[in-house]
Parts: sequence; structure tokens; C-alpha cells
Amino acid sequence: MEYPFDAVVVGAGGAGLWAALELAREGVNTAVLTKLYPTRSHTGTAQGGVCAALGNLEEDHWEWHMFDTVKGGDYLTDQDAAEVLAREAIETVIELEHMGLPFNRTAEGKIDQRRFGGHTRNYGEAAVRRSCFAADRTGHMILQTLYQQCIKHGVKFFDEFQVVDLLFEGDPAKGGRAAGVVAHRLADGQLHTFRAKAVLIATGGFGRMFRITSNAHSLTGDGVALVYRHGLPIEDMEFFQFHPTGIVGIGILLSEAARGEGGTLLNDLGERFMERYAPKLMELAPRDMVSRAMYQEIRAGRGIGGKDYVYLDVRHLGRKVIEEKIPDITEFARLYQGVEPLKEPVPVQPTAHYAMGGIPTTVWAEVTRDEKNTVVPGLFAAGECACVSVHGANRLGTNSLVDLLVFGRRSGRQMARYCGQVDRPRPIADATEPIRAQLEAIRDRAASGDRADSVAAIRHDLQDVMMDNVGVYRDAGLLSVALTKVRELKQRHGRVSIADCSHVFNTELLEANELGYLLDLAEITVVGALARQESRGAHSREDFPERDDKKWLKHTLAYRGKDGPTLKYKPVSITRFEPKPRTY
Ligand SMILES: Cc1cc2nc3c(=O)[nH]c(=O)nc-3n(C[C@H](O)[C@H](O)[C@H](O)COP(=O)(O)OP(=O)(O)OC[C@H]3O[C@@H](n4cnc5c(N)ncnc54)[C@H](O)[C@@H]3O)c2cc1C
Repeated sequence: MEYPFDAVVVGAGGAGLWAALELAREGVNTAVLTKLYPTRSHTGTAQGGVCAALGNLEEDHWEWHMFDTVKGGDYLTDQDAAEVLAREAIETVIELEHMGLPFNRTAEGKIDQRRFGGHTRNYGEAAVRRSCFAADRTGHMILQTLYQQCIKHGVKFFDEFQVVDLLFEGDPAKGGRAAGVVAHRLADGQLHTFRAKAVLIATGGFGRMFRITSNAHSLTGDGVALVYRHGLPIEDMEFFQFHPTGIVGIGILLSEAARGEGGTLLNDLGERFMERYAPKLMELAPRDMVSRAMYQEIRAGRGIGGKDYVYLDVRHLGRKVIEEKIPDITEFARLYQGVEPLKEPVPVQPTAHYAMGGIPTTVWAEVTRDEKNTVVPGLFAAGECACVSVHGANRLGTNSLVDLLVFGRRSGRQMARYCGQVDRPRPIADATEPIRAQLEAIRDRAASGDRADSVAAIRHDLQDVMMDNVGVYRDAGLLSVALTKVRELKQRHGRVSIADCSHVFNTELLEANELGYLLDLAEITVVGALARQESRGAHSREDFPERDDKKWLKHTLAYRGKDGPTLKYKPVSITRFEPKPRTY
């Protein structure tokens, strides 16, 4: 079946929903395709807050926010983009408030704000209260608010339609333009074509390539991998953030809000060990630094009981703060660990959390295809799958939600302008054939009873090697082993077999397909990490422990080649802040 729309938005997280809302307001005929029900998108799990220099409780300025974002990203951040982020953060948060988002309030009735890692007053002087929040359910409230607005404005939703291919008129690597998408509908197993002038990729992250992760099962990087498979570059994939406070063993997140409200980290000796690593900001140093500090303590034998975790302590905050400001995460500690945070410290360990890299875009969310930032007409990306790059080598807490708002909104506006300028693309003959053949090959093996290698077994091996060899600390030896392993896993995936050969609700078939995306993205991550011989932000090479601006102050672009990814590089945009050593 074919559906004609002017704009197609792939993904119904915060980025996709705000884009769709903007398109609907401009009267553009828009479809949102989502593999999950919109309100189940990962944005709904975001806890700690969304930052904007509102200055409701103390002096603050967007320039300070911009500086923190650039320094937090270890100077790999594109400064033109960071300026847009910090300036427009303010008006987007206020717009959300006007849409009805129930923020916590100050005594005067303004939006309440709290501290978060790396957000400072006056260019690094001390921590500042910049994160706007609705208890520890900020993402949930953003998602509900935007979804309601989309319904009100008549956006058309196609739930449980999983996009499995992108359509182009001409080769997008050589000037061709976006022409729509192909989606697999879970309920009938059919492939559906959506022809459109403008396509937005807003498919979120891909933390599921790691064993311990805060990311939902569905975060498999579909949009990023599809863009790569069409010959377009992917940017800065070697930078993947490990959040310091995951629940031990399972990785479920205990938000940085706990530390923002005054929670501390303790080692086996009961020391606040962050004193040694970031004397000024302590537990509110950026995440890459805190995660490394935790590993250092654990390696020195000061993990709790000599094991691989430390304590997060919120006991001193008292019942009122805990119940009003961080109720959900303390409940997670009770539920998953059997620990009562009012009385006991909570065991925590770094967890794979956020992809700084992704699909390269301009500050108007237009996807670019080379080192000169040449735009692919009609193709847009926003949210965690995109790399603008506002987060550089390390994202600051609460800077992702604001990235969704600012660049989600910009993408919708730019798509609306673009749709007004071009004709609808011509129908593409046999649009669904390439992907149909791939999916049928997997299903045929199910029908033949071939049980060579399961999705679960390959995914398990992938997650292990990525966690153990491509985690917080890396070196050439670990990464080379990882590359060989990931390539073996790609071979095995070529023969993957599933048990379910049915057409309707075949989630196993879709998972087999998603695993292919994770494998592609893991390979790019490892190749980029092996090439980058320096330590910057979340990419920490023990064999190259220093940042090397002379050689490496540049973005990586990975292109799909015959024998795996090939790399090129492009310059970083530096407008206001020259790179300096990064201390906190
Ligand atoms: C536990 C947790 C807590 C967090 N807390 C914070 C926080 O407090 N502050 C902050 O700033 N950031 C936080 N983050 C990060 C932030 O929430 C995410 O980066 C952000 O929500 C991503 O939003 P998105 O719109 O890009 O994608 P998502 O919200 O992940 O949505 C992705 C969408 O894409 C759809 N999709 C994916 N693949 C396909 C496909 N093939 N076809 C169709 N649809 C598809 C999905 O159905 C979904 O609707 C947190 C992240 C996690 C995991």
C-alpha cells in the first residue's frame, strides 16, 4: 500500500513530536511513523530535567550555558550549534510551560531549577541551578505534553510501523533527494510505502549494543544505520557516554538529579573520592570524568567490598527532598535492589547511556553528506540519532532533552519551508523489493528449520565485547580484538535464524533485522575509536591519555566501504571559546 504525504517523521520521541507539531501548525500534510506507541518512546524515561538559563533562582545567562556545553564536550562541540542550543533553550522551555507542562515550582511560582553536572556560573566558578524539572519524570511530562498537542493539531500517527528502508530520487551521496520511506507494519507483516517530499529521522539512540545500559530494548539505532547503508556518512561514533550511576548489574538509571540535589559518591573507605578528581564541582563534574573516577577507585581496590561498584548516598537529603524531587529513582532502588535509600547507600556502576555521535546535520537539522556539509535535499535528522554537534565528545546532563526541543522544532520549521518549495517525488518502481528480499531471506531460514545461530546469542556476544573492550577505558589491543569479534558477529548475523516464520506480529524477525543495525553501528564505533589516537571526553585511550588538539580537533565521518567503514574528517566550528585544558 502507498500513502502520499508531504512530510514523514520517523520516530515519536521528543524530537519527532515537536517536529510534527511544527509541521502541523504550518499546515503541512504530515505522517508520524513509530515502531512503538508514541508515549512509550525513550524520551518518556528521562528523569532529571531539561536545562535552560532561565535564572529563576540565581543569576544565569545563555552564554554561560553555551560555554559549559563547549567545555563539557571537550571542545569538539560545534560552537555555532551550541549557541543556537543555549539561546533557544529558553524560549522552548517557556513554550512547553505554556503548552501546560507541569514543572515543579519555586515559592514564587516560577519554574523550579536544580544543579546538574558541568553546568556552572560565570564560566566555571561554581555549580548553577539550570535544570528545569517535573520531579524525576521530566521526559514523561514532555512526551505527554507534546503528544497531546500533536493530537490537537491533527497529526496523523502510524503506530507500530517500523521503518526498514529509506527512499531517494537519485543517489543521496551524489546529490539525490529524499523521496520517502518503506515501513513494516507489525499487525499485518506487509511493507508499506510512504512517498514524501521531506523525511525526518528521529529514531533515538543505540545503547543496546552494550551489556549494561540505561537504554530501552528498542534503542537499536535504526535510522542511523539506514542512513549509513545509503552511502551517507555518520559522525563521531567513537564518543559514547557512560553515565556514572546505573543500578549494578542491570544498568537502569538513577538520575544525576540525585547528585544535583546533594547526593554524594562514596568508596569502600567511606571517602567522597571525587574530591581527588574534581575538587571544585566534586560529584557534579561531567559524566565522563565521574565514570573514570569510579573505575580508578575500583581498580585501586576501593570499590565496595573490593567489588566493581561504589555507593550513591542520599540519606542526608531527608524524606521531604527525596519524596518531592527524586521519588521515582529512589523507588527503583527499592524495587530492583531491595535497598532503602532513606537509610542505606545505593550500589551504583557506570551504564552505557547516550550516543554523542550520529547523523551529521546543519543547525537546521538538514542531513549533510560530506566534509563541506553539503546538504542532502529533503532529508533531516534530529534528537539523539543526530549529531549537530552540540555535545561534542561528552554530553552534559539535561542537554539532550533541550537538544530535542530546539532542533526538533527547527527541523519541523525547515521541513515546512522545504515542502513549500519542491514537488512531490515521482513514484519509485519496486521501492520495497530490496528490503523485502532481505527480510524474506531471514524468514525462509525459519521455515526451513535452520537453527544455526539465534538473535539472542549473537546480540549477547556483541553486548559483551562492546562492554568489555569499548567501554569507559580503551586501548589499541582491546579495540583490535573488538573489531575482529564484531566482524565475526556480522558474518554470523548473515546466517541468523529465527523460530517464528509467521507474517503477523513477527517481532523476532524485526529483532533479527535490528541486530544488523547494531552490528553496523558497533563496527563504526570501534573503527573510529581505534583511529582516534588521543583521549577526549568520553573516548579515553589508556595508550594515548592526553587530548591532542593539533592532530585530533576534528570530527570523524565514517562512510560505508567495501571492507567496512572508511574514515574522513571535518573541522570543528569554533566561534567564541578557544580550546583550553579541561579542569573542574
Ligand atoms: C533512562 C534515561 C534517562 C534520561 N534522562 C535524561 C534527562 O533527565 N535529561 C536529558 O536531557 N536527557 C536524558 N536522557 C536522554 C534523552 O532522554 C534521550 O536522548 C532522548 O529522549 C532521545 O529522544 P529522541 O526523540 O531522539 O528519541 P526517543 O525518545 O528514543 O524516541 C525514538 C522514537 O523512534 C521510534 N523508532 C525507532 N526506530 C524506528 C523505526 N525503525 N521505525 C519507526 N520508528 C522508529 C521509536 O518508536 C520512538 O518513537 C535520558 C535517557 C535515558 C535512557
